Amino acid sequence: MNFLSIREMERPEIAKLLRSAASLKKDSLSGKKLPAFPDKTVGLLFFEDSTRTRVGFEMAARRLGIGFTSFGVKGSSMSKGESLKDTVLTLKNEGVDGLVIRHEAAGAPNVAARFFDGPVINAGDGMHEHPTQALADATTILEHRKKLDGLVVSIVGDVMHSRVARSNIWLLSKMGATVRLVAPRTLMPPYKELIPAEFHYSLKTGLDGADVVMTLRMQMERMENGLISSLGEYASMYQVNSGTLRYAKPDALVMHPGPVNRGLELDDLTVDGKQSVINEQVENGVYVRMAIFNAVFASKAKKKS
Ligand code: ASP
Repeated sequence: MNFLSIREMERPEIAKLLRSAASLKKDSLSGKKLPAFPDKTVGLLFFEDSTRTRVGFEMAARRLGIGFTSFGVKGSSMSKGESLKDTVLTLKNEGVDGLVIRHEAAGAPNVAARFFDGPVINAGDGMHEHPTQALADATTILEHRKKLDGLVVSIVGDVMHSRVARSNIWLLSKMGATVRLVAPRTLMPPYKELIPAEFHYSLKTGLDGADVVMTLRMQMERMENGLISSLGEYASMYQVNSGTLRYAKPDALVMHPGPVNRGLELDDLTVDGKQSVINEQVENGVYVRMAIFNAVFASKAKKKS
C-alpha cells in the first residue's frame, strides 16, 4: 500500500485515516500501548528542505518503534549524479522497508513506487500534493469543529504553486466542506472547471462568513517573475490580519502550513492570536504520520500472515 495523493483516495479511506490519527493521539497522550513495528526501517528521502514534515515523520517513526535513515541530495550519492531510480533500488536492496519522499518534481514518489517493493509515502512533491499536511489540517479542524461536512474553508494566497492547497482542496471537498480559493488571478490554478472549489479574487467575498481561514506561504522558489507587482502590494490586498479576519466568522480558525512569512501572509498578531491553530497543525502532523505508518505496515503484516 502506497500513500501518494489525496485525490486518488475515496472518502471512507480518508475518514478511516482521520479516525486512526485521532485514536493514536488519544492513546499517546494517555500513555496507552501503541502499535509497534520494531522490525521495520524507513528511508526518509528529503530532496527539498523541510523542518515540520521531516521531523514529523521522524517523531512518528520513533513513537512506533520504526527505525529510520534520513538523507537528502547533499550527503548521498545523488550529489554524484545518481538517479532517483538507482537511489531507490539501492535502498530496496539494502533492506529498507518503506520510503518517505519529498521531491521538487511532481510525481517523483510515483516514480519511486515503480521501483520499490514496500510502501512509498509522499511527503510533498513539487506543486502536486502534500497529503499528510492535508490530513494534519483536517485533524485540527475536526478537533475544533467536530465535522468537516458543511464547513466553509477559505484557502488564501499562492494557490497556484501550493501542493498544500491541492491536497486540501481534494480532502475537504470529498469530506463535504465548501472550499473557497482566495487569490489574485495570477496565483489561481488553471483549469478552474476541474477544481472542486469556488474562486474569489477579494478577501471580502472570499472570507465572508468562513469557518476556517487557511493561509498559504508565497512560494517564491516556484514563482516566475511578474505574477505579482510587489510583496507589499500583495500584503495590502490579501494579508489576513485583525482587520481582514473580521470578514470571516468571529470564531473562525486561522491556519497556515508553515513556514510563515510573518508580515506577509499573516500579521504577527494573527499568527500568535487566539484564533490561530498553527501550532496544533504541527502537533497533529506527528499523529497523522503515525496513522500512515500504522496503515501501511499493519496492512502488510496482515497480508504476510
Ligand atoms: N511546508 C509546506 C510544503 O512543503 C508549505 C510550504 O512550504 O509553503 O509545501
